Amino acid sequence: MNQLQGETIAAAASSSNLGSYDEAYANFNWDEIEKQFSWYVTGKVNLAYEAIDRHVDAGKGAKIALRFTDQSRDEAYTFEDLQALSNQFANVLRSYGITKGDRVFVFMPRSPELYVSLLGIIKVGAVVGPLFEAFMETAVKDRLEDSGAVALVTTPTLLSRVKRNELPSLKTIFVAGEEIEVSEGIVDYHAEMAEASADCEIEWVNREDGLILHYTSGSTGKPKGVYHVHNAMLQHYYTGKVVLDLQEDDIYWCTADPGWVTGTSYGIFAPWLHGVTNVIRGGRFTPGDWYNTIQNNKVTIWYSAPTAFRMFMGAGEDIVKQYNLSSLRHILSVGEPLNPEVVRWGNKVYGRRIHDTWWMTETGGQLICNYSSMPIKPGSMGKPVPGIQAAIIDDNGKILPPNRMGNLAIRTPWPSMMRLIWNNAPKYEEYFRIPGWYISGDTAFMDEDGYFWFQGRIDDVINSSGERIGPFEVESKLVEHPAVAEAGVIGKPDPVRGEIIKAFISLREGYSPSAELKEEIAKFVKEGLSAHAAPREIEFKDKLPKTRSGKIMRRVLKAWELNLPAGDLSTIED
Ligand code: ATP
Ligand code: MG
Repeated sequence: MNQLQGETIAAAASSSNLGSYDEAYANFNWDEIEKQFSWYVTGKVNLAYEAIDRHVDAGKGAKIALRFTDQSRDEAYTFEDLQALSNQFANVLRSYGITKGDRVFVFMPRSPELYVSLLGIIKVGAVVGPLFEAFMETAVKDRLEDSGAVALVTTPTLLSRVKRNELPSLKTIFVAGEEIEVSEGIVDYHAEMAEASADCEIEWVNREDGLILHYTSGSTGKPKGVYHVHNAMLQHYYTGKVVLDLQEDDIYWCTADPGWVTGTSYGIFAPWLHGVTNVIRGGRFTPGDWYNTIQNNKVTIWYSAPTAFRMFMGAGEDIVKQYNLSSLRHILSVGEPLNPEVVRWGNKVYGRRIHDTWWMTETGGQLICNYSSMPIKPGSMGKPVPGIQAAIIDDNGKILPPNRMGNLAIRTPWPSMMRLIWNNAPKYEEYFRIPGWYISGDTAFMDEDGYFWFQGRIDDVINSSGERIGPFEVESKLVEHPAVAEAGVIGKPDPVRGEIIKAFISLREGYSPSAELKEEIAKFVKEGLSAHAAPREIEFKDKLPKTRSGKIMRRVLKAWELNLPAGDLSTIED
């Protein structure tokens, strides 16, 4: 379990907002962070004001807030523009009777209208529910029904996936597109916006009032509605400062869609709370388009995911050389374990370290991270954010000593902690079943230097011949093999060993499946990691099943293997 711990990549000499991690951690005080916000003076707050209007009030209205690009659009919006547009949409919402606490969903592809709508919803004090554009009818219906949504913003194409007659609470649908046929409950977004005033009285709310309802990725089962409040902005702001290292002149690009929490907490809130220019790219991933986005916008901070970095690694070094990526100062990753090989590759090819960050929809913000001023141990998630206390505990709440695998837990509370699982109190309480702790559902260990190492989700831990094996370290060894593009590892029931390790592997370009290759790969893990961690079975697949946010769905692999129903597939990629 400890073989990687010795490898470190030193921090670059440049200055960062955090400075010394140890000092920041020891001296941390949330009260100091709170003083940044209007509630400190007025007792009331609104995140949309802090993210947009405040910069206009401070004389920075002409600064570019949003640069949007996709196949057909290339547009820039200043903070003043976003202030006016979100005010207009807030007024439109009010004219349809939408008020504080209402759930209003956005179901659209990434577009400037999506960001404007989301801000407008927050400005009236409503709770925004972002839905990923790829959701099909049932997924959309389940979420709108569960949340009791009263309104939705969508596009003409996506409207056909909304089963209106089965959703009695859903009164108003704003459709953003050309030539909208207005009818009972169907409103032309652009026509209403054109009529609306750009002045608006923001709904000032309390810190504990609702902000956003995120249905999780569904890697492990049915999505749950995770409810966050305005107070979360403290965490967004602080982590934006010390983890993203946002500075005044940065050009920031987070590749996540707002349908996932990364696309809101760090695709909207953190960058705009810091008043930086935020790049949004619509459309699908291709290595060339993505590198182009960095080059054309001179992106300085780039926040993406292991799946993307693995695809870049698969696409190779040559393509990197065709682009000028020299603007990049800071690269980060989230969503899945970041394989050490990917960190090494990034360091070599981009000449920059990739900083892993660990957190969850439920945590609202980053909790365990690598920082630009701290050495990175490839394969480790890093150390707790100042203000956060993390530990490895057993099922009775006992803190385990270093190097022992157990439940990754966080001391409660922290500012961006979820406040509810919508309509599901028992599920919410499960996370807090050990007094004083939030139980993440992930397993990890902490080394002697205080670095945390992800092992797997609790349900994914494999028990083979009495050994507990986290799938992540096996998968990470597998992707070090030159033929392996991606790997997903599961435990397969075995009468003798309890479980055996089975690996599903997609191959890199230029390699084809063969029995010899299977043997060679198994031997590679056996010699590089350990005999008990080597897969006894390997199956090659063209593609591994993933969520739309790019996570390998091990429960689907398991269902394939055992011929069981795969469960809720609403978030699976096509
Ligand atoms: P669901 O809860 O619906 O099954 P999900 O857990 O994939 O879906 P998210 O909240 O988006 O939904 O993901 C959080 C989970 O992703 C974490 O619990 C962890 O398992 C994994 N994860 C996120 N970041 C990292 C990371 N840096 N290293 C390892 N795992 C990570
Ligand atoms: Mg989860």
